[in-house]
Amino acid sequence: MATYSPFRDYDRLDSLKALFFSAPARVSFEFFPPKTALMEEKLWESLLLLAPLRPAFVSVTYGAGGSTRDRTHATVKRILQETELTPAAHLTCVGATREEIDAVAALYWESGVRHIVALRGDLSEVAGGRYTPHPGGYAYASDLVAGLKRIGDFEISVAAYPETHPEATSSEADLDNLKRKLDAGATRAITQFFFEVDVYLRFLERARGAGISVPIVPGILPVTNYTQMKRFARMCGASVPDWLANLFEGSDENPELRALLAASIAAEQCRLLRAAGVEEFHFYTLNRAKLTLAICHILGLHAPLPARK
Ligand SMILES: Cc1cc2nc3c(=O)[nH]c(=O)nc-3n(C[C@H](O)[C@H](O)[C@H](O)COP(=O)(O)OP(=O)(O)OC[C@H]3O[C@@H](n4cnc5c(N)ncnc54)[C@H](O)[C@@H]3O)c2cc1C
Repeated sequence: MATYSPFRDYDRLDSLKALFFSAPARVSFEFFPPKTALMEEKLWESLLLLAPLRPAFVSVTYGAGGSTRDRTHATVKRILQETELTPAAHLTCVGATREEIDAVAALYWESGVRHIVALRGDLSEVAGGRYTPHPGGYAYASDLVAGLKRIGDFEISVAAYPETHPEATSSEADLDNLKRKLDAGATRAITQFFFEVDVYLRFLERARGAGISVPIVPGILPVTNYTQMKRFARMCGASVPDWLANLFEGSDENPELRALLAASIAAEQCRLLRAAGVEEFHFYTLNRAKLTLAICHILGLHAPLPARK
């Protein structure tokens, strides 16, 4: 019997179209903790708009260098207390001792938070320079995963890089690192954003070939701000194809056109991934719900209409 090959199956899109309609995809949404009262209001509007889609979880990021520790915690706690959503708290190794990170994790456990997205993190742009572990801190995400498991039986998600992490010595070393994180107790990987579907499918094939069997959930970034996305992409080693630049050309002064482009590009990406058998998607919402809502709608996830009075 032929072994399953996502990349080969991608070439047979026609025969896989039926799969796309067979069952709705599972989704999760990522938010960042708000800085101001107005941003907080916007975040809650977004959360409430997306909640009816019943995401598997909603995650809240941890600012570079641990700069949002209290805000991340407050947002996660409020989600837990005021909604029926399952929150996942991002946590990084940067700028803190093991004891400090363990204390944050213990507080999450006591508050009832059971899902952590465990990351190494980066130095903030202000701190600049190359990442060096904090003396007495967790050096890499794999160390953090092991530390978290000592505190509580958290569900742990980690990062994966279809185009290889920029600091990795090779793509094989980066895949070995992903395996270390899973061996330490993580049960899901979420990818860095990417735009070419075959980049993800090739990575998935390599990961499966290396014996990694956990879900590797594609991270989908609806591009609301092309210039900002280019800057992120440069920092995290994601490639930006020429066709994307061409599509956005001339849209700077036209936010409505940009939103339409963002939704149609991400929807097409998800549709192709879905047709290739991908069942789970993680959306980098950037706290803007409408685009993500539209893309999920195209994926077959419809928010139920409010009941008539
Ligand atoms: C889904 C997702 C969510 C994210 N959320 C956040 C967030 O909330 N806050 C934030 O600040 N950042 C976040 N990031 C960014 C992330 O922190 C950076 O990409 C960071 O540079 C690497 O984090 P990591 O967890 O992948 O690190 P690691 O898995 O530790 O890997 C980092 C690098 O070190 C190498 N490496 C690992 N172990 C060793 C070792 N023992 N010896 C030598 N090299 C090693 C790896 O190959 C890789 O190149 C997120 C990224 C993703 C994909």
